[in-house]
Amino acid sequence: MIEIHSKKLRFDYYSWPKAKELASQKGSTLVWPFGATEQHGPHLPLITDTFFAENILKEVLERLPIELPIWMLPSQSIGFSPEHLGFPGTLSISANLMIELVTEIGQQLAEIGITRLVLFNAHGGQIGLLQAVARQLRVECPSMAVLPCFLWSGVQSLNELIPDKEVEEGLHAALAETSLMLSFDGDLVGNERPFSKEEESCVENDTKVPFGWSLEGAAPCAWLTKDISDTGVIGDSRGANKQLGDSLRNALLDHWTKLFLSLMESNWPNFDYK
Ligand SMILES: [Zn+2]
Repeated sequence: MIEIHSKKLRFDYYSWPKAKELASQKGSTLVWPFGATEQHGPHLPLITDTFFAENILKEVLERLPIELPIWMLPSQSIGFSPEHLGFPGTLSISANLMIELVTEIGQQLAEIGITRLVLFNAHGGQIGLLQAVARQLRVECPSMAVLPCFLWSGVQSLNELIPDKEVEEGLHAALAETSLMLSFDGDLVGNERPFSKEEESCVENDTKVPFGWSLEGAAPCAWLTKDISDTGVIGDSRGANKQLGDSLRNALLDHWTKLFLSLMESNWPNFDYK
């Protein structure tokens, strides 16, 4: 059941005449949460990424002044997750389908006068894809800014809470995600605390990841989960706890509240370009 305040934040809870009016407001901004339906180890649900995108976004929007012209779309909860196929329950659409989906919906939003579309993504496997489609959509619809962002990127205080390796390599179903889910709803977290094989040796010495290359970051290797993990966890979830999750949640909320406020105060995009 969606709460009263949240309904006002959801664009699809308005009638079409009201939607038309909202879209034509100066600086009208829609935020589209992107997640995945994919394995998150034996202890986290398939919905994990979608759950984070939607719930962090909801809390961020609730912190913003209610009069700002910013609303959220319903989540895109099936994403581009080919790396996790083979773990039952994982569903993935192709890169081409994702490009078509975002392009078609984006064009429709630009046509009704939306000024900015934020792709608020919590699934690390589709960062590059959403950046590419955002750039292409902007060229096709220059009047609408498109901002593809990743929930965990650029949050400076993460470095104080999570080991460097997990921050840099964006590990999966490990310390950060397990702790954050404990902060939201411990009933959604199983008792297992798995860790992947490479945690037993350092990445540089692991024959599977050549020296100087990495899972993500500077020289990534487009890994498949089964290259490095039997459980589906990549990284180490053993230290996860609710207190850390609460700190992560606050860090994410502070960061994204600041960024959305600055976006709403800005005159981006350059409207003269139309
Ligand atoms: Zn995830």
